[in-house]
Amino acid sequence: MSESSRKAEALTRAEKAVLGEIWTSGEAYDNLVYLCDWIGNRWAGSESERQAAEYLLEKARQYGLQDVTTQEFRHDGWTRGPVRLEVVSPVAREVAAIALPYSPPADLEGEVVWVGQGEEEDFKRLEGQIAGKIVLSAAEASPGAGQRSSHRREKFARAIAAGAIAFLFANQNPGMMAITGSLTAGFPAEIPGLGLPKESGDYIVRLLKSGPVRLRIHVEARFAPTSSLNVIGRVGTASLDGPFLIVGGHYDAHDVAVGALDNAAGAVVCLEAARALATVADDLPMPVRVVLFACEEVGLLGAWHYAEQAKHELDRCRFVLNIDTAARGSPGNENLNLCGFPDLVPYFEKVGQEMRYEFPVKDGLSAYADHFPFAVAGVPNATMGATDASSGLIGRGWGHTAADTVDKVSPKALQASAATAARLLLRLAFEENWPGQHRTREEMATTIANSPIGWYVEKFGRYPFQPM
Ligand SMILES: [Zn+2]
Repeated sequence: MSESSRKAEALTRAEKAVLGEIWTSGEAYDNLVYLCDWIGNRWAGSESERQAAEYLLEKARQYGLQDVTTQEFRHDGWTRGPVRLEVVSPVAREVAAIALPYSPPADLEGEVVWVGQGEEEDFKRLEGQIAGKIVLSAAEASPGAGQRSSHRREKFARAIAAGAIAFLFANQNPGMMAITGSLTAGFPAEIPGLGLPKESGDYIVRLLKSGPVRLRIHVEARFAPTSSLNVIGRVGTASLDGPFLIVGGHYDAHDVAVGALDNAAGAVVCLEAARALATVADDLPMPVRVVLFACEEVGLLGAWHYAEQAKHELDRCRFVLNIDTAARGSPGNENLNLCGFPDLVPYFEKVGQEMRYEFPVKDGLSAYADHFPFAVAGVPNATMGATDASSGLIGRGWGHTAADTVDKVSPKALQASAATAARLLLRLAFEENWPGQHRTREEMATTIANSPIGWYVEKFGRYPFQPM
């Protein structure tokens, strides 16, 4: 038998073993329930985040991962205090809102301007009418095919650039779900920001039809130095000096939710794939490093830290597979989003066909998940996510609201995502004709400069979520 048919057989054997392991296990779901229902929100720098790290560390050891340890990094934590948003004219009324993380404390009053979706053309249309006022923008929508909609940080940046004194971000999904999302990467934001439920946003927009509307904003918040832990480990006994893979997922969540979908699900899927791969560790042609990131929600802080610490060896990293919100809806909704490597789209489409488990694959420049620090370093990378059309919700859906709870996640969807992740990692490890090429940091910088966030980098001299 030739060497390559021996390898093909070994891959098939490993794949069947790993699939059997995942489809007969409830570990991923049990871990998700524990992280969400017993530990809690896992907010960046909090006691809850630390407890989750300790729990995941223990699990990684139990599952037979090697070199299991934590990687600590310091950052400035943010803790919310009381907040109040009031209409002061033409009527007097308090409306529901929460502070967006890293909003500075504030006590201010001003006229509000509705900027619709908060895209570049919206701000152009309102040029000269925003300075000194409060901007009200729609939160995430779902862009149509081939379209892109701006991330919160981009809308916020446009408001700052136009001279706004505060920023209101209104959910587009009904149900009194105030939406959250960090304003910065772990440093005090330039102006205060609040997240509103759709009903609050719609109310203000209706009032605006009768004339000017004045609002009063009161925000209390506390900044304090703290630290967080990436949880890291390794699967496989192949040489540590050769090529390797990275699989990751963030385990932190927003403070208003337990973040079951975003991203307890991704973290437990990552760990479950690692647990299954550990049962075939000796057969893996290259090691798989497992990284459970902290502080993703406040600017990818854990991923930036890990990528910086590993920079001397990232040229040996074949691929980074990040898992974020990958178990939405019914099982089988996975998709793969490459960042800066369009030439790999056909490769992964073919892998899906060979696996008899096809999933959508696309490439785009997204700066808003833990793959990004690796993309900046020129390492081939993707984030595996999932979309759920059945919920009837747009944008982030339940994500970034208090409704991101355990009941939104099914054990089967976790199994399907863990199976997909583990099979992708196996195929990447066994691949003899890997077409992925590293790119230089300079090449990536040019790609980013020519992307939809190019203006942002030029204007602010940094990526949208990049720590100081
Ligand atoms: Zn996430």
